[in-house]
Amino acid sequence: MSSAIEKAKKKAKQIDRESLNKLGIERTHEEYYIVGNYPPLAALDDVVEKGIDIFEGAGPRETDIYIHIPFCLQSCNFCHFYYEKIDDPDVERAQIIGGEKSAEIAQKEKDRIEKYLSNLKQEISMVAEKVGGITARSIYIGGGTPSVLSAEQISDLFSHIRQYVSVPDEAEIKFDVHPQVAHDSERVAKFKALREAGVNKIAIGGVCLDDSVCSKQSRMHSGKDTAKLAIELKSVYGFDHVRTDLMMGTQRQTPENWEADLDELIEKCEVDCAMAFPLMFKASAQIYKSFVRDPAKFPSIEERDLLYLIAIEKFKEKGYTQDLLFYFNRESEEDDQQMRKFKSLDETEMLCFGPTGFGFVNGHQYFNAPDEVSYNTAIEQGKLPVWRAAKLTERQLFERDVIFGLRTAEGVDKERMMKKYGRDLSTEYSTQISQFCEAGLLESDEEGIRLTEIGKLRGDEIAASFGGDDVRLKSEQVAMKEDPAGPVQRYHYHPHGHRLR
Ligand code: SF4
Repeated sequence: MSSAIEKAKKKAKQIDRESLNKLGIERTHEEYYIVGNYPPLAALDDVVEKGIDIFEGAGPRETDIYIHIPFCLQSCNFCHFYYEKIDDPDVERAQIIGGEKSAEIAQKEKDRIEKYLSNLKQEISMVAEKVGGITARSIYIGGGTPSVLSAEQISDLFSHIRQYVSVPDEAEIKFDVHPQVAHDSERVAKFKALREAGVNKIAIGGVCLDDSVCSKQSRMHSGKDTAKLAIELKSVYGFDHVRTDLMMGTQRQTPENWEADLDELIEKCEVDCAMAFPLMFKASAQIYKSFVRDPAKFPSIEERDLLYLIAIEKFKEKGYTQDLLFYFNRESEEDDQQMRKFKSLDETEMLCFGPTGFGFVNGHQYFNAPDEVSYNTAIEQGKLPVWRAAKLTERQLFERDVIFGLRTAEGVDKERMMKKYGRDLSTEYSTQISQFCEAGLLESDEEGIRLTEIGKLRGDEIAASFGGDDVRLKSEQVAMKEDPAGPVQRYHYHPHGHRLR
């Protein structure tokens, strides 16, 4: 048995499941969900019904930026994100594969993507004009699969962004690619366009290196494709920073094949950052149906905890730091968009563009239109595509800071909370702090509060318990009314109000 697995097994013995149960934070596969934002989607209001203008009184600003490209060449069975499956927009390749009919379909898809990009650019210009100027601290183009865009579309999108947004040289510019891009006939031109556009970080989505695990996820690539791409991004295509997105708890995953994946990514691919999230279920995802049919085919909750502990051990052993709950960095990445979000500096805003993008601006948490059609319609009518939003109360801003801060290695600073909100963390949360400290899940000292290593295993549940009752009740009430497979539930990234049936 490897030392990482051995150490992880020893640590797993420290998990007191009875006490987790008593505290109400033990999880089942179906209950678990990550704290992605606060307040979450179900607790936000329809902006038209409530007459909310998220930019009211807003002036020029410096923000992080997220841009969503909602097209994918396949449907991964675990996916929670908004995407539209398209046929290959590369006409020449489609002709080779499928003849004239495919060429026709491909042309239609190409037109569809062009229409979307034109609206996306329009949204960027509209927001920039509305606030009177945007400076980007960082730009993240995610999806979906942004690497389905052609080299020309990539260059055109970035040149539009730079026309309307000031992008300092030091800004982090990150772009998501799918491992299938390894087979793309246009990949050399695409990576050249990305480099010329100033992209300095590449994130490879949905990484899976073990083919027996990969085959259960409806992915269109092999483990070898992923490893080859991760290596070539640095050695052939000239990117200094490569991030990989991993998942823990899928079918056929074992401590041994999980450790082998990590070894390959660390030793051979030399990834700079790895995100490792536990598998989560949404009623809309195919993988949930497989789970309901046969839960025994999935790692148990105990095995999932072990996978996470193996990741913690493995990355630590290789000199990575865990600056955020599920993020492992080769070097500390203070400028990373996610770090800033979870460090929750109130001046850290996020503007989002494209359907289902969620942002935080001018004191509002907001969420864009839930699909391509409603998004395109809004823009073509000259309206911003904001769908749901809420202006946070002072108490909710405080809760947001605490909830997000708990996900960072430093935790939540008591003095900072007092200075910023005039609130004493120890008094406001005396119950939570004492019960989680007693259970060995949280540390509290003069400086602040932070999760312990075992606490990280239930970090989402612990953080969520620092939220307000108003937000929890509204999320739960809305969840009861909404279709579990509908858009509000599908894009509700929070354990409270997470409903599968
Ligand atoms: S996981 Fe990524 S590539 Fe797969 S369907 Fe979802 S957005 Fe598309």
